[in-house]
Amino acid sequence: MSLWKTHGQEHLTAALDRALREGRLAHAYLLTGPVGVGKATLAMEMAQAVNCVEQERPCGKCQQCQRIQRGIHSDVQFIVPTEDERTGRLRTEIGIDQVRAMERSAALGPYEGKYRVFIIEGGERLSTEAANALLKMMEEPPPNVLILLTAVNEEALLPTVRSRCQRLELKRLPEERLADILSREHGVAPDDARLLARLSSGRLGWAVAAATDPKVLEQRQQRLDDVLSAVDGGLERRFQYAQELAFQYGRDRAAVQEALSLWLAWWRDMLMLKKEVAELVQARIGANRWRHARGGSAQSRWRAWSGRWSPPRSGWSRTPFHA
Ligand SMILES: [Zn+2]
Repeated sequence: MSLWKTHGQEHLTAALDRALREGRLAHAYLLTGPVGVGKATLAMEMAQAVNCVEQERPCGKCQQCQRIQRGIHSDVQFIVPTEDERTGRLRTEIGIDQVRAMERSAALGPYEGKYRVFIIEGGERLSTEAANALLKMMEEPPPNVLILLTAVNEEALLPTVRSRCQRLELKRLPEERLADILSREHGVAPDDARLLARLSSGRLGWAVAAATDPKVLEQRQQRLDDVLSAVDGGLERRFQYAQELAFQYGRDRAAVQEALSLWLAWWRDMLMLKKEVAELVQARIGANRWRHARGGSAQSRWRAWSGRWSPPRSGWSRTPFHA
């Protein structure tokens, strides 16, 4: 029986199980998939699996697994952009100083567990110098070191770094499976679980975060309001919105990626409504609005939106949707 808590990625966890049993683990992996699909969770579980003391790993219960889960294991480090000492502002890139620090601690070997694990969150944020230093480290990997890179946009990584990693692609989960996991394992009421499963576009990590932290849905609602204000607004508002996104990209790339995927989802829903396939609309409206307008009226609100919107003439006919 698989002990992995990463659901819906059996194509990956089964292969990892085999590699663990046969001692054929790669020294570097690249975990790819959309924002909130569960890359960080799988990375943490991989860190548990290589340090777990039980036969069936990751058990999630031994001291090693528990300390990793609580973020206090000295051999497991998450690498994210740090604060700039001069300005006090969060840097947008993972710097070479951070990779050098990784090298130093890798050379010391594991302290309390069996493996030192470095989880580089958002590998595309490595500066060129940092990526080159990491490449060197990967070419001569120290023993008992596991490097895990996560990336939404793997194309943004140096090809040489990518080629040194074994690639693990996380898939989106079907809506029903996701709703089932939310209610069985996270105690979410069935109605809410179905709603979150719909809003999440198959991303379990996002759905779990939204179920436990109300800020996630508030933030989503805010982003959606921004989308609607840009759609409704004139040119000036649209340019202002574009400028806001560009400015935010310099500070928080994940937030902008999330906003852009909301845009894509919104236009997709508009097309579905235009094509009179309302059942395919993934109810991208905010959860609060949905709750207030559950049932027919939510659909009518969407119909009102789509009624006002007509696809631009030029270029549009080239898309397969109007073929
Ligand atoms: Zn364990």
